[in-house]
Amino acid sequence: MIRLENVCVAYNRTFKALENISLTIEKGEAVGIIGANGAGKTTLMSVIMGLVDFEGSITVDDIPLEKKNFDAIRRKIGIVIQNSDNQMFMPTVYEDIVFGPLNYGISREDAEKKADEILKDLGISELKHRHNHRLSGGEKRMAAIATVLAMSPETVLMDEPSSALDPYNRRLIINTINSLSVTKLIAYHDLDLILDTCNRVVLLSKGRIVADGTADSILKDRELLEANRMELPLRYAGNN
Ligand code: ATP
Repeated sequence: MIRLENVCVAYNRTFKALENISLTIEKGEAVGIIGANGAGKTTLMSVIMGLVDFEGSITVDDIPLEKKNFDAIRRKIGIVIQNSDNQMFMPTVYEDIVFGPLNYGISREDAEKKADEILKDLGISELKHRHNHRLSGGEKRMAAIATVLAMSPETVLMDEPSSALDPYNRRLIINTINSLSVTKLIAYHDLDLILDTCNRVVLLSKGRIVADGTADSILKDRELLEANRMELPLRYAGNN
């Protein structure tokens, strides 16, 4: 369980990127974090990973998010960042996937077994020995997800998971997200993807939570979305 209480993030003294965020994410939930550009979605992901300074309180499974607990918390949470180029740093997909588990002291044999299983589950075994810099955008995103899953996280955070992907790869990512039985937090302004993957939605505007409810209720609310610089998902817009 992830719990934030009155969390504020200020990138400089005057500007607050997050203001008084109180939010509880229960185990197994799939939560969409939506909001216009600059609403604070990425900052929310970053603060949960302990990547930016904050005021207030954050706990993960009752462990306070403090420097001394970063290792324990980062073992529980994996993040797929916006730009997969910045997530993959070893020469090949396989080396990237085994890197994390090896770093945590898992034997090479077990790490390789785990990597093979994940590649198979994601349907990307053919990428195993491919060079990261020769992958397409969609392949790279799938490989990045594989590196995160190799750490067996209890929660996966995803920032704009299908940005810059074509419709085929976008569908592949949606199916992959839906097949993951972990707690999921997905930050995005592609509301159709959120509708396809999340059952709860948190709407941010200017660093504050302005709505928190079922995906269906929030993503059907044209007035609420338009007041916060977003549009109905295509699926609902077609009916109006
Ligand atoms: P987008 O949809 O454009 O990715 P977002 O909802 O993820 O936006 P954030 O990236 O969290 O929004 O940014 C929230 C606010 O904080 C924005 O006004 C942004 O300009 C500002 N901001 C983000 N990162 C920094 C930083 N490192 N230094 C200063 N300001 C920042």
